[in-house]
Amino acid sequence: MKQISSISQLQTELAAYHSRTIGFVPTMGFLHAGHLSLVHQAVSECDLVVMSIFVNPLQFGPNEDLARYPRDIERDRELAEQAGVDILFTPTVEEMYPRKIQTQVQVSGVTEKLCGASRPGHFEGVATVVSKLFHIVGPNRAYFGLKDAQQVAVIEQMVFDLSFPVTIVPCEIVRDTDGIAKSSRNVYLSAEERTQALILSRSLKQVKEMVEQGALTNQHDVRNFLIEQIELQPLAKIDYVEVLSYPTLTEPRNLFTETILIAVAVYFGNTRLLDNVILNK
Ligand code: AMP
Repeated sequence: MKQISSISQLQTELAAYHSRTIGFVPTMGFLHAGHLSLVHQAVSECDLVVMSIFVNPLQFGPNEDLARYPRDIERDRELAEQAGVDILFTPTVEEMYPRKIQTQVQVSGVTEKLCGASRPGHFEGVATVVSKLFHIVGPNRAYFGLKDAQQVAVIEQMVFDLSFPVTIVPCEIVRDTDGIAKSSRNVYLSAEERTQALILSRSLKQVKEMVEQGALTNQHDVRNFLIEQIELQPLAKIDYVEVLSYPTLTEPRNLFTETILIAVAVYFGNTRLLDNVILNK
């Protein structure tokens, strides 16, 4: 008999009895190259890849885009299959929430700033659906994009705090050739909005270089520089521009020694776009 007192040791011990590795890619569909990059990584590391497509009502605020969120399940099915997904899980809202949900997962701390501040209840919805999906799918590894860097921090915190037996794999941001971060919501943009939205990736790339060259040395200058650049675009309306320690999402003390997240959320018309860069990863 073995006696084990450590949670991670117990989980490692038990994992040996699950002979195959299940990789999981949760999404809201309307797939693009960003989603597919998560699948490619999962395929290269796992025996079985499960993708979910579920537009989760719990994570949308009352005035957000739940009803008009873009959907194309036929196209998604083809793309997922081509990318190597073995099981595509596409539950209805009734399947996921047959009764009014009375249990929610609330992560504090890392949810206080950025999208957590702008979208009250959003990360409760995310943490709740991701926990539920983890219980349903039982993955060994789950793949999340760093385009939603705060989401990665929230899920990692939840998994750590509640000892979910799953490894979270953060994946790099995939961009269009002109630099714009791939997003299902990019289809909402008019031609003019999309052109102006290029300022986000351009100015983030620029500040990263400026910090690395020592031309910007503190978070306030980085923030001010970004705000100035973004405000030059007449259609841009800033939700937030933040420079924080990552993954704690606390005020940074040193831009050169800590891992730093520089994150922006900006409206172009009614479309809210996110982008970020991470320094000293
Ligand atoms: P969504 O369907 O927007 O909820 O995204 C599903 C997953 O894909 C999340 O983990 C996202 O962070 C990830 N994702 C979305 N866009 C990108 C991108 N441009 N690059 C990398 N991952 C992404």
